Amino acid sequence: MADEAVRRRCATPAFGTVLTEHMVTMTWSAERGWHDGAVRPYAPEPVDPATAGLHYGQVVFEGLKAFHQADGTVAAFRPALHAKRFRTSARRLVMPELPEALFVDAIRALVDADRRWVPTEPDRSLYLRPLLYAADVSLALRPASTYRFVVLASVTENFFGSSGAPVSVWVSTRYSRAAPGGTGSAKCAGNYAGAFAGQREAVEHGCDQVLWLDAAERRWIEEMGGMNIFWVTRGRNGAVLVTPALTDTLLPGVTRDSLLTVAHELGIATRESRVAFDDFTAAVSRGEVTEAFACGTAAVVTPIGRIRAGHGEWHVGDGGIGPVAGRLRDALIDLQRGRVPDPRGWLVHCG
Ligand SMILES: *Cc1c(COP(=O)(O)O)cnc(C)c1O
Repeated sequence: MADEAVRRRCATPAFGTVLTEHMVTMTWSAERGWHDGAVRPYAPEPVDPATAGLHYGQVVFEGLKAFHQADGTVAAFRPALHAKRFRTSARRLVMPELPEALFVDAIRALVDADRRWVPTEPDRSLYLRPLLYAADVSLALRPASTYRFVVLASVTENFFGSSGAPVSVWVSTRYSRAAPGGTGSAKCAGNYAGAFAGQREAVEHGCDQVLWLDAAERRWIEEMGGMNIFWVTRGRNGAVLVTPALTDTLLPGVTRDSLLTVAHELGIATRESRVAFDDFTAAVSRGEVTEAFACGTAAVVTPIGRIRAGHGEWHVGDGGIGPVAGRLRDALIDLQRGRVPDPRGWLVHCG
């Protein structure tokens, strides 16, 4: 139950600004491995200006949510899969891999400590941000031998608000997000700094978000700045939910995986394949693409209404969330909030 001070700070929780009272911290060193894990009052981290992570970007993170449940408890959504991706990201950046059980324990301990910050409103949740950074105080250009793990929590509203209004996307042919053999499938800090220029280009062209094509041919649809993309085509035997197949230049979203699973259960046909942007827009022009949407932990399911590139502009849908996207979003939210059975054990209770 939120007290008055908590209620006041949470009045308008712009994404990532309302941080809670506690944090988890843990250290890794070559000699001692993972040690000194603790839940502590939220406080600035003393960061030496020569901290390696600041200079060379040896930094990975995660983003997941905990939800107030229909039965009054609190649960995190799929923390084990986030833990697994955190390990994969760390491995790619030659960082120590945090065992899944320690990751999940850290999430549970933090949510339990900040229980009174977990919002009960249907469009709000507690966003959790695990972070691992190279902590050596050294300018030597090599993987560090000490690392710091922290987990922060933030009260959040659905990223694009709860209006369900569609966003517009700009297709950049000037910048790339990820190259073959690069770090695109890892959730590492530098990917996001590198994408800011594309995002700014999108805004300059009157769009909300950037849609990335592959870096090698600038031909294949990949994903958004921090979200995966889906669309719905009118097939001969009904609607088909399509999303680009995973490669080493796509971030494997937990929401993406959850929606594919949920779609399967709802009897919606799915296809993961490589799709050329020109083929996609030709299908949009023929009226074969009935819906498009972005998905991610922060954004949940957000419709895409307009697609703009240097050589044209295309409209999808009728200004709201489409029927397939709406069904998927509702099914996902019902699962996350414990309103329907959870046969796969995706929810992990946090005290
Ligand atoms: C985090 C992220 C996503 C979405 O992943 P979720 O696990 O669904 O939150 C998609 N693309 C990029 C580039 C991301 O960083």
